[in-house]
Amino acid sequence: ASPRAGSAAAGDPAAAQETAVSATSPRWSLAIHGGAGTIPRDLPPERGAAYRAGLARALALGAEALERGEPALAVVEQVVRALEDDPLFNAGKGAVFTAVGTHELDAAIMDGRDLSAGAVAAVSTVRHPITLARMVMTETPHVLLVGAGAEEFADQMEVERVENAWFDTPARREAWERSREPGEDRDTVGAVARDVHGHLAAATSTGGTSNKRWGRVGDVPILGAGTYADDRTAALSATGKGEEFIRHGVTRAISLRMEIAGESLAEAARALIHDVLQPDDGGVIGVDREGRIVFDFNSTGMYRGAADANGRFEVGIWDEMSAVDRP
Ligand code: ASP
Repeated sequence: ASPRAGSAAAGDPAAAQETAVSATSPRWSLAIHGGAGTIPRDLPPERGAAYRAGLARALALGAEALERGEPALAVVEQVVRALEDDPLFNAGKGAVFTAVGTHELDAAIMDGRDLSAGAVAAVSTVRHPITLARMVMTETPHVLLVGAGAEEFADQMEVERVENAWFDTPARREAWERSREPGEDRDTVGAVARDVHGHLAAATSTGGTSNKRWGRVGDVPILGAGTYADDRTAALSATGKGEEFIRHGVTRAISLRMEIAGESLAEAARALIHDVLQPDDGGVIGVDREGRIVFDFNSTGMYRGAADANGRFEVGIWDEMSAVDRP
């Protein structure tokens, strides 16, 4: 859904104006995450390599699109679709199990140009929840559709449908059967971008927390909690204990601190992640209007990647990120 006329809409010349960038600011920037949590340092090397390769593939897809001049909104959707299809991550194929052995998916997308946004929660047969979220934005006056209503909306749209069990993977089933602990797997995915036109967008998609009660909705589809984008400040996507991110309105709080207190993205993200949230709650990725990328997390690790027009192409899991070849 788009905002009412009268707000800073796309037709407003001020909103449409390209953001001025300094000579060193990259013309486009992209950051992605594949979840933050307790990632063991002794993660088997082949598993670490598989995560890095999955992140690098999604990053390359987005980098190419941004280089072609595609809008941030289309790029973050495309990147999240790729991560939804990657069975390693807890979004789309490979989503975690609920306590009753099913999958319920949440996703949101937001356009920094005019605060247009769309989200879906607890959908169970949509292969790419992020695309349905984008249709909520473009095809309805609403911003969030849930459960049966979202499924019926999907019936009316041309989106790919699958049986709920299609989201199963042996690894997730095994982890679920082994632990039955809530919140163990946190490999939610997200992407934030600044395009060559100076616009920002954010997208996040998840299977939620493992062994969650059916009907539980996390922070991802709640605008201002797990997902937020505003061209005047930053595009943000979070991952971690959704309930905490909802309680503290983390992404909106970061944006507001930038807007009202004049903090940088790095300062505002640090305040929320380290002063407001508790250790191991999770993390956030963001890109500001100048294309500066920020990653911050208070867990042991966060699967993540960054690329920009200055040639940066890096992925990381724990403290450090390292340059990798573009696939
Ligand atoms: N934030 C997500 C949720 O609570 C989980 C995650 O980040 O993996 O639904």
